Amino acid sequence: MPRVIPPVPDADDRAFWDGVADDRLLLQRCADCRVVQHPPSPMCPQCQSVDREWFEVSGRGSVYSWIQSHHPTAPDEKPRIVALIDLDEGARIVSNLDGIDLDAVEPGLPVEVFFAEVDGTKLPQFRPVNHG
Ligand code: ZN
Repeated sequence: MPRVIPPVPDADDRAFWDGVADDRLLLQRCADCRVVQHPPSPMCPQCQSVDREWFEVSGRGSVYSWIQSHHPTAPDEKPRIVALIDLDEGARIVSNLDGIDLDAVEPGLPVEVFFAEVDGTKLPQFRPVNHG
């Protein structure tokens, strides 16, 4: 059973997925007040502007929180770590954390993005900085 339900991009998040396909992590921000918004939305939560723009981020951040995820309906070959990542540019993103054991994860752990195909869908994933 596939673990990934492929994204169905719409007008709000198409640029995000186009970036992922190109190994780039793009975030949306307000063209007026510069508040970064993720997930993307048609209107700025801060100033209600509908002028949105996309910019490429470093892909660096730190772990805010995490869980070990077990697939709800099928046995996992390997349970994965799902984390909330605070990106350096100021957005919080949900992603998989790879390349580290569960008991080694700690708050504030520096991580960086990488892109990997999971069940035929390319996704942004994160791993510790200085990952061997
Ligand atoms: Zn704004």
